[in-house]
Amino acid sequence: MSAPNKPRLRFAPSPTGQLHIGGARTALFNWAFARRTGGAFVLRVEDTDPTRSKKEYEHAILDGLTRMGIDWDEGPDVGGEYGPYRQTERFDGYLGVAAALFQAGYAYRCFCPSERLEALREAQMAAKENPRYDGCCKALTKEEAQAKISAGEEPVLRFDVPEGETRFTDLIRGEVTFQNAEVDDWIMVRADATPTYNFVVVCDDSDMQITHVLRGEEHLTNTPKQVLLFEALGLDAPIYGHLPLMLGTDGKKLSKRTGDTALIDYLDKGYPPEAILNFLCLQGWALDGEHDLFGVDELIANFEPTDVSKGGSIFDPEKFLWMAGEYVRRDTPERLAERCTPFLVAAGLATLEQLDARKDWLVRAVAAHQERFRLYSELPDWIGYLFADDAGLVWDPKAEKGARKHAAAPETLAAFATWLAARGAAGEALEGADLAEATKAWVAERGLKIPGLFQPLRCALTGAPGGADLFEIIGLLGLDATLARIADAAARLGVPAAS
Ligand code: GLU
Repeated sequence: MSAPNKPRLRFAPSPTGQLHIGGARTALFNWAFARRTGGAFVLRVEDTDPTRSKKEYEHAILDGLTRMGIDWDEGPDVGGEYGPYRQTERFDGYLGVAAALFQAGYAYRCFCPSERLEALREAQMAAKENPRYDGCCKALTKEEAQAKISAGEEPVLRFDVPEGETRFTDLIRGEVTFQNAEVDDWIMVRADATPTYNFVVVCDDSDMQITHVLRGEEHLTNTPKQVLLFEALGLDAPIYGHLPLMLGTDGKKLSKRTGDTALIDYLDKGYPPEAILNFLCLQGWALDGEHDLFGVDELIANFEPTDVSKGGSIFDPEKFLWMAGEYVRRDTPERLAERCTPFLVAAGLATLEQLDARKDWLVRAVAAHQERFRLYSELPDWIGYLFADDAGLVWDPKAEKGARKHAAAPETLAAFATWLAARGAAGEALEGADLAEATKAWVAERGLKIPGLFQPLRCALTGAPGGADLFEIIGLLGLDATLARIADAAARLGVPAAS
């Protein structure tokens, strides 16, 4: 239960698709504000669209938020004193409110057939007017309306928008004024007796004692409708704040054209959840204008809706990738290994059981490559060589070219293998800094140059032109695999490259 006079915020997704990245930002800002102020964060499922709402989307949305670390105090799964938190479970209440508004003269029945509405719309468009209902059925007497109902016609219920203007103070946009003449006599209840979004959202925001509504700018034109309905009900509307649109790098509304739009796509690609949160924070908000990298605790400590910018925020995928890499580097190898494991399994490198059996080794493998990957899904490409067969490792042509630059590569590799095996037999270090030092001394003693060994060796062990520290790699492969790969490479480099 939230304390009295504390803000009550909500996130109200419609389960008609995957959670949009913009929706995730809406949830994040509402949550952060509730957490900063010690208020309540409510999750309400707006499933009034019977054809498009799906249970699996509801699960996906809740799951996505949970994976981002966003929790809620009240919601369909955890309950709460203002439940139920699914709109389809609240229908009876809405229809009672609709009946009361009708009785009090704030709403009227409309029998206009769709053909008339369509013709009206077309005429208004042709005259360059905003399409809106012309109030035709408002003139019907009670008897006329009753006669139509008796004849089997099913009316919709429209809100009777009064003359004048509607004002509200938006936390982000300041004073906002709408001319009521621009606001349609909108439908509150459809002919099949199902209530519409603008109507139920007011009932619920009021019943659930919501004090602040932060939501996307696309809802701005709904707000006068909702404010007028609150007035008709004799209630105070919540305080609204409309978050700026998230724009693609083309300056247009974010769409599939310029990047993924669903949160799940980013999670599935292995963006660290902390990077997603941090990046979303920057979509309209800044910590101090200097630091781009910060955690949600900083958001919670500092988030003020009035600091959110009015202008559209640019969603830059390049910056997002960079940020992902920064979070990978800052993570602990242990947690990274855990988070990357499903991606390694999905890439077919090993089974979960195999990885579980070599946890410490995997942590070391991840640590050795931590500087190099940005997304969890990129790790399999970086460390795939560790799981490959020792013979016939696939070589990147660049790596092979680098190795073949050194005419003595086969002999150098063979001599190095002999030396390495002897070190192993003598119980000397076969990895890390000790081995690096000893190898450099070995190279110098033989009058070689570092690349003369290192380039063929890297090609032999990894097949790649660059990557993690060679001596970490030797440690990760172990002596047997290292010697096997060197032998294989010495043989392959001993014959001319296949063209
Ligand atoms: N259910 C609406 C949506 O998913 C949100 C409505 C609101 O925040 O008022 O867009």
